[in-house]
Amino acid sequence: MSEDVAPARLEMIERVAWVYERLVETYGAPDWRPTGDALGELVATILSQHTSDVNSERAYEQLRLRLPTWEAVRDAPVDQVADAVRSGGLAEVKAERIQRILRLLSERLGDAPLTLDHLAALPDEEAEAYLRALPGVGPKTAACVLLFALGKPAFPVDTHVWRVTRRLGLIDAKMSAEAAHGYLQRMIPPAWRYAMHVDLIQHGRRICTAQRPACARCPLRAGCAYQRIGLSASTFRHGDDRG
Ligand code: SF4
Repeated sequence: MSEDVAPARLEMIERVAWVYERLVETYGAPDWRPTGDALGELVATILSQHTSDVNSERAYEQLRLRLPTWEAVRDAPVDQVADAVRSGGLAEVKAERIQRILRLLSERLGDAPLTLDHLAALPDEEAEAYLRALPGVGPKTAACVLLFALGKPAFPVDTHVWRVTRRLGLIDAKMSAEAAHGYLQRMIPPAWRYAMHVDLIQHGRRICTAQRPACARCPLRAGCAYQRIGLSASTFRHGDDRG
C-alpha cells in the first residue's frame, strides 16, 4: 500500500476489504451479468421505489404486458399507465415520472426507437451524468442502471446497504444515503462493487435487519462499530428509499 495514502483512508480501505471478505465467505460472490436493457432497468427501478420487490416486479410485468413498447407507454393516457403499475404503489406519481422521462428521451433521440443503449459506449461519469439529468433520477436509480444493465461499476446505496454500512462503521452515522454513494464508490474497488452491493442486501435482509439485528450469529460481528461502541438498538433503524 502506498505511503502517500492517509492513515484514516488506509484504515478504511482495510476495513472495507475485511467486510468484503466476510461477506463473500458468507454469501458467495454472485456472477455479475448485466442485462443490457438500460431503459427497462430505469423504469423497473422507478417502480421499485417505496415498495417491495414482489409488488414492483408485478407492476413492471403488467406495464410490459399492457403497453409492450416504450413508445406505447409514452403515448398512452397517464391513467392507463398508472392502472398498469398500480400494484407498485404511488401509481400516479410513477406513471407521470416514467412518461416525462420517455418524452424527454424522444426529444433527444428524434425518430429513433426509445432506448438508453447508447450510454454503454460513454465513459462511466458521462453515462451517470446523462441519467442524473433525467427528471426524478437520483443517485440510487442512476447507479442501479449503470451496475445492473450497463455493466458499469457503480455502487447503489439502498435502504439495506445504507443501514448496514452505517452500523458497520464504513460510513459516518450521520452520512445521508445520497452522500454515501460517492463516498463508498471511492472506497470500494470497482471489481468488488457488484458482489458487495448484492451481499450487503442479503446481510441486511437475513441478519442485520432493521428492527432486530441478529448480532449473536453475525459473521461481521468482530469488526462491527455497532457492537464495538455499543450503539442503542434503535440506532439506524430507518432506511432511505429515495431515488
Ligand atoms: Fe449488523 Fe449486528 Fe452484524 Fe453489526 S454485528 S453487522 S449490527 S447484525
